Amino acid sequence: MTVIQTQGIHRVMHEIKRRRLQVLRVVDLTPRMRRITLGGPELAGFISLGTDDHVKLLFAQNAQEQATLETLELGAGKDHGPMPAMRDYTPRRYDPQTLELDIDFVLHGDGPASTWAEQATPGQFLHIGGPRGSMIVPDMFDSYLLIGDETALPAIARRLEGLAANRRALVIVEVENGKEQQVLESAAQVNVIWVLREGGKDHLLTTVRQIKVPSGNLYAWVATESKASRQIRRVLLDEHGLDEQFVKAVGYWRRDDTDDL
Ligand SMILES: Cc1cc2nc3c(=O)[nH]c(=O)nc-3n(C[C@H](O)[C@H](O)[C@H](O)COP(=O)(O)OP(=O)(O)OC[C@H]3O[C@@H](n4cnc5c(N)ncnc54)[C@H](O)[C@@H]3O)c2cc1C
Repeated sequence: MTVIQTQGIHRVMHEIKRRRLQVLRVVDLTPRMRRITLGGPELAGFISLGTDDHVKLLFAQNAQEQATLETLELGAGKDHGPMPAMRDYTPRRYDPQTLELDIDFVLHGDGPASTWAEQATPGQFLHIGGPRGSMIVPDMFDSYLLIGDETALPAIARRLEGLAANRRALVIVEVENGKEQQVLESAAQVNVIWVLREGGKDHLLTTVRQIKVPSGNLYAWVATESKASRQIRRVLLDEHGLDEQFVKAVGYWRRDDTDDL
């Protein structure tokens, strides 16, 4: 039996920097998922080591917030005046040669980030901050259980792309409908279950209850709506008996009517 050292999973901190980037390309991956490629000289030195890293995207809603944005020093603890809205997004791909960063946006309708992505066109600017740190989960497990909704797809895709051929991954992703399914590349043996939201409520949780958890040492990662993430985590621990230290469950967004349990 291979003994897994938790020390293998570790956090690396980075200098938080605000970067002013330009929209280079806008491509629709699916009807609800838009890839926006950002670039510019300020991307030099950008670091994203963890597959579920996040950057803060900054959206000024008025002239005062725009003024703050231009001088903001992230992490400095200063009072900068009216703060722009900040939203977390996964660096889907960074190319240090071409200085390009892909961010995949779910077009869910409301909200500064989704609204901005809906109207984004090449030439516009977007300020980003971070990543502040990276949680490094080395590819040291036999199997991976990756669960989420569309917002988790960028991180899931990054994880799958980094897995060795002798690994197994069971991926369960809830999407709106069949048109939202993406091709997920990996050298590993991957089984993807697409759960269609239009098929009914709580389908993701029900599906997670019914799965046969992959054998061997397992790392489980969950990211979806906050309440759903907490429920899935409980199912993984209580019903599937997973080891808590190798289960990471995160809320990626919050439904308005969700109580903070
Ligand atoms: C670490 C991390 C990484 C993330 N990476 C990504 C990523 O790569 N791509 C991505 O698209 N999202 C990602 N998210 C989720 C994203 O930050 C949220 O969806 C965020 O709320 C979107 O901001 P907004 O301004 O569009 O909407 P908000 O102003 O935050 O919310 C407005 C309304 O929209 C609802 N809402 C928000 N998000 C969704 C959604 N996905 N589906 C349905 N309703 C929603 C809210 O309940 C609210 O009613 C990530 C979140 C975290 C924590």
